[in-house]
Amino acid sequence: MLDYLKTKAERDAFIDKYDNFLFDCDGVLWEGTHMFDGVPEAMELLRSKGKRVFFVTNNSTKSREAFLQKFKGFNVKATKEEVFSSAFATASYLKHVLKFPEDKKVYIIGMAGIKDELAAEGIRSCGGEEDTGLTDNDAVPDDKEVGAVVIGLDTQVNYKKYAKAFTYLTRNEGCHFIVTNEDSTYPQHGGFYPGAGSIAAPIITALGRRPDAVLGKPAPNMLEAIYAEYGLDPKKTVMIGDRLNTDIEFGLNGGLDTLCVLTGITTKDELLSPSNKVKSTYYMDSFGDFSNP
Ligand code: PLP
Ligand code: CA
Repeated sequence: MLDYLKTKAERDAFIDKYDNFLFDCDGVLWEGTHMFDGVPEAMELLRSKGKRVFFVTNNSTKSREAFLQKFKGFNVKATKEEVFSSAFATASYLKHVLKFPEDKKVYIIGMAGIKDELAAEGIRSCGGEEDTGLTDNDAVPDDKEVGAVVIGLDTQVNYKKYAKAFTYLTRNEGCHFIVTNEDSTYPQHGGFYPGAGSIAAPIITALGRRPDAVLGKPAPNMLEAIYAEYGLDPKKTVMIGDRLNTDIEFGLNGGLDTLCVLTGITTKDELLSPSNKVKSTYYMDSFGDFSNP
């Protein structure tokens, strides 16, 4: 518990111990548009040793295709099959778990990532970035085709979008309420901005109930999807992240060993504080340190 990976020998032993490495993205590989030092080399090292890597991100604003472009821009190898995002998890949940009917559509408070992943699963949607809202005096028109409301991060969120979401959820029988991820904040411009959990909070308050499903970490669904697809051995799998209540809890919930890096949200003081109940198996300063000689 909370072993500090300091020396090269400790880091090599860590790599040898696992076959599968699940990576949180923001705060581990990069911060926004800045890739951390040593990360491309560390990823190459894992691949050269035949390790499998997966990228598990709560960021719903981008589709998996868009994430691939980001990886490409950083010169880091990744395939679509390796990327598991909360938007993809949401689309997959609607299709495979809810068996969302073809004659229904999804109302989105969120960005292109959600719309694109729903479309890739053949699910119709409305709202999202194209929804500029109603004018002040408009009532929300009935739209009985809306069978689910999905909420993720939306930087253009407004009151009328909330009015629509609430109206569909309360007037359309059986309308599902789904939140991509509940991060309260996310890193932005050197500080933090409100995250998807904060965007969904007004609807949770208005309805007086929890969402029917929340898909991102720490929920187990992305891990289940990875297991279903690739049949990994949990004992040979480690989750690497920077946030305790999403990444590390996600790993712990799945019975995995975990590595907390200190390049993101969690500080060393928070991690080591006696009041911290979410303890990772290991911690280290930066994932890029794996590339150190
Ligand atoms: N949500 C949004 C909108 C984000 O932009 C980010 C990070 O950039 C996150 C969540 C957290 O993503 P991750 O799980 O990769 O740390
Ligand atoms: Ca993170």
